[in-house]
Amino acid sequence: MLEKFLQIQSPSPEHSFQPDWHNPADCRIWIKRDDLLHPVISGNKWRKLKFALNDIQRQNVDHIISFGGGYSNHLHALGYCCHQLNIKLTAIVRGHYPVLTPMLRDLNNWGTQIEFVDKKNYQQRNDDEFLQSLNKRFPGAVIIPEGGSQHQALAGITECVNEFNRQYDYILLPVASGATMAGIINASPAGKSQVTGIAVLKGQDYLESLVNRFVDNNKQTNWQINHQYHFGGYSKSPAELQDFCQQITNKYNIPIEPVYSGKLFFALKSMLEQQSFGHKANILVLHTGGIQGSR
Ligand SMILES: *Cc1c(COP(=O)(O)O)cnc(C)c1O
Repeated sequence: MLEKFLQIQSPSPEHSFQPDWHNPADCRIWIKRDDLLHPVISGNKWRKLKFALNDIQRQNVDHIISFGGGYSNHLHALGYCCHQLNIKLTAIVRGHYPVLTPMLRDLNNWGTQIEFVDKKNYQQRNDDEFLQSLNKRFPGAVIIPEGGSQHQALAGITECVNEFNRQYDYILLPVASGATMAGIINASPAGKSQVTGIAVLKGQDYLESLVNRFVDNNKQTNWQINHQYHFGGYSKSPAELQDFCQQITNKYNIPIEPVYSGKLFFALKSMLEQQSFGHKANILVLHTGGIQGSR
């Protein structure tokens, strides 16, 4: 099927991680390496796109429309998939890039039709009226929302949780548009696993509301978002964070980058020092990928 055709390496590896950090509560850590699912298709973006792409293939749809910024891992992953599957992709990109980013250059090479829109127009990306006008312009095309974050994405994330080798007391992951976190919450046993999202952008309450859109009613209590590690915002990467990423990458041979996984690992280190987890807790850290984004 799709997974085989695109050479997705699933299930992704899950290995223990024993850094020489201060860990007074003696917690045990495992990393789920969704960054290794595919060399081009970013980890959680594959999870989120898989079921949508399966449907699209089955229905012989030959055109997809989606949205993102100039550095979007989602558009990049989708662009590669569409190229491989011979599906036309129209990417509506926020802002103007007279000089293309490396991601946009890849999209260009993969035959994606890029349409730049200003911030104001981009804000309409989820409005019914705007979506209807796209449907009129591109009859038969399927629209996938920004980040691939839609209900179908949750099923792909469920597969990730079903691959876990054991039950964890804590699951840590980065959170931006919220669908990945919601999928993990829904698929995790309530009352057994505590899901902690590390906010990668400034958005107290806003991020919670994004996650809540997708969370099952009976799973309302086993999660929270930590807002202390966004380093000033989405694309902010101060020298301290860059150095940290370099250190982890070199010392433990786990590639991380400043936008998502860097903040995640930084939070892990700091929370271990502060004894934020129970004594000898089992912690799973979900490496969601995104390494291509550090270019
Ligand atoms: C998009 C992305 C996320 C955020 O996932 P959401 O479902 O949007 O919260 C996390 N990590 C990486 C590497 C990503 O590309």
